[in-house]
Amino acid sequence: GVAARAVDVWKSYGSGDAAVTALAGVSVEFEREHFTAIMGPSGSGKSTLMHCLAGLDDVTDGEVWIGDTKVTGLNDKGLTELRRDQVGFVFQQFNLLPTLTAEENITLPLAIGGRKVDRAWFDTVIDTVGLRDRLTHRPTQLSGGQQQRVACARALVSRPEVVFADEPTGNLDSKSGAEVLGFLQKSAREFGQTIVMVTHDPNAASYADRVIFLADGKIVNEILDPTADAVL
Ligand code: ADP
Ligand code: ADP
Repeated sequence: GVAARAVDVWKSYGSGDAAVTALAGVSVEFEREHFTAIMGPSGSGKSTLMHCLAGLDDVTDGEVWIGDTKVTGLNDKGLTELRRDQVGFVFQQFNLLPTLTAEENITLPLAIGGRKVDRAWFDTVIDTVGLRDRLTHRPTQLSGGQQQRVACARALVSRPEVVFADEPTGNLDSKSGAEVLGFLQKSAREFGQTIVMVTHDPNAASYADRVIFLADGKIVNEILDPTADAVL
């Protein structure tokens, strides 16, 4: 099945002479259980596409779907529920709450949604991401790589339809970055988690099953089973 879909999506910022066309007719499907990277030059529309798919930003024209939910046309309540229950996010800046422990950060989305923690699944995620002995630590007591692994666990623990990762290795050294990418890859291959990642790093993109390339708000190329050399 398809976890996320854009159908002829257009997105403009501003109006009149000052209008910027960020997306110019993007159609793309993200198959369930696949790990897709989105690449392209700065300003090509990568973040805008991800924000539109995740219901963080409205489209100017076209349709966006997450699973069986038509995102375009949802009211504010529907969008809040979509973001809470159907998508997970990993950001470049980790975005953890400083006063909460790692475990509290990871389970927060479930707590907010009034959902129970599936302990067996929580344990699987924690052990796979290597955070078992860090659960009572607060973000300032963790390295950047550990913080990003907490953010990945937080994104996965609710088993969302899609995890969106925006430059997840942008603030990490290469070893920590490789650990995060390895976890995202394993999440797709072994846990069937659909992942969509924006990156400008060819090495990061090589962890994905597929890379789509944006330029000037359009998809201009696609590579399956990428190697870092093929993506360059
Ligand atoms: P990328 O993520 O590939 O760098 P973006 O999606 O951030 O590209 O931006 C695509 C285009 O839309 C750029 O020209 C950018 O300046 C413009 N843009 C993005 N967000 C906004 C905004 N909030 N207001 C105005 N223009 C924006
Ligand atoms: P990215 O690394 O995704 O390209 P940017 O620095 O382009 O990040 O954008 C960071 C934030 O600023 C995004 O939320 C984007 O929507 C917003 N933004 C980007 N370009 C503009 C712009 N020209 N005017 C207003 N906001 C913008």
